[in-house]
Amino acid sequence: MKRIALALFSLVVAVAFLAVPNSYSAESTLAKVKKRGVLVAGVKFDFPPMGFIDKKTGKPDGFDVDLVKEIAKKLGVKTKFVQALSKTRIPLIVNGNVDLIAATMTHKRSRDKVIDFSMHYLITGQRFITRKDTGIKHISQLAGKRVAAVQGGNAGPNLLKVQPKATVVPFQEHTENLLALKQKKVDAMVTDDILLQWMAKNNPDLVVPGKLYTIEPYGMGLRENDSDWRDFVNEVLLELWETKRYHAIWRKWFGRDPDFTLPWYPK
Ligand code: GLU
Repeated sequence: MKRIALALFSLVVAVAFLAVPNSYSAESTLAKVKKRGVLVAGVKFDFPPMGFIDKKTGKPDGFDVDLVKEIAKKLGVKTKFVQALSKTRIPLIVNGNVDLIAATMTHKRSRDKVIDFSMHYLITGQRFITRKDTGIKHISQLAGKRVAAVQGGNAGPNLLKVQPKATVVPFQEHTENLLALKQKKVDAMVTDDILLQWMAKNNPDLVVPGKLYTIEPYGMGLRENDSDWRDFVNEVLLELWETKRYHAIWRKWFGRDPDFTLPWYPK
C-alpha cells in the first residue's frame, strides 16, 4: 500500500513538473547577466555607424554598440561583443550564444515567430546605392542589373518585390558588397538607408538616388518567453529617449537629431 502511495505521489510530482512551461522554470536572462557580471551582445562589425570595428582601438563601436553599453551600465555589468552577421543574428539568440542582438535588425512578423523583439529603437528604410558612373537614377533602371545584398537580410527580397528583373548577388558582409560595387562587379547595392548614407558620405564615387521604398523599424533580438529581460531592455530604451541621452548618442554618430520618434509610452 505504501509503495502504491509513493508511486502515485511520484507520478503527481512528475506530472506537475511537466505541466509547468519551460519559461517558468528557466532562469531569466536578466538574473543570469547580473550573476555573470557580463552582458554578451551580438553586434554588427560591418555596418558603420551602427556597429563596426574601430581601426585605432580594434574594438567594436557604433550606435548599436553604445546602446548596449547603456544597458550594461544600468545593470552595473561589463560588456562582451560578438560579431553578428545578418544570417547569424537569429541563431546566435536561439542557441543561447548571446543575451541580446543589437544588429540593425528589422522587426519582422516572420522573425517574431522564432525570437522576441524589444520595442522599436530606430526607424529607417531601404534604398539603393550605385556608382556615379552608372548613371542609374531610378529603381526601374535596375532591371537586368546585378545588385549586391547580404545573406539573411531582407534587402534582397525587398528589392525583388519592387524590381523583379534585378539579379540579387549575395555576400556575407556589407564590406564585401561595397568592395564589389567599387570594383564594378555589381552595379548597385541595397540595404538600410542609414548605412547607405554613411557609405555615400565616405565614398565620393557613390550616390544614393531615389526614395525609400520600405520602412525598417529596428528591434533588439531577445530569446522567446524571457519577459523580465525584455521589460528591462525596454525600460532602458524608454529612459534613454525620455532623458534625451538617446539624442546625444544619435548626434554623436549622425551629427543631427533623429528624424523619427520612438513609440515611447509613459511610466
Ligand atoms: N535591417 C535589415 C534586416 O534586418 C537589413 C540590414 C541587415 O541585414 O543588416 O534584414
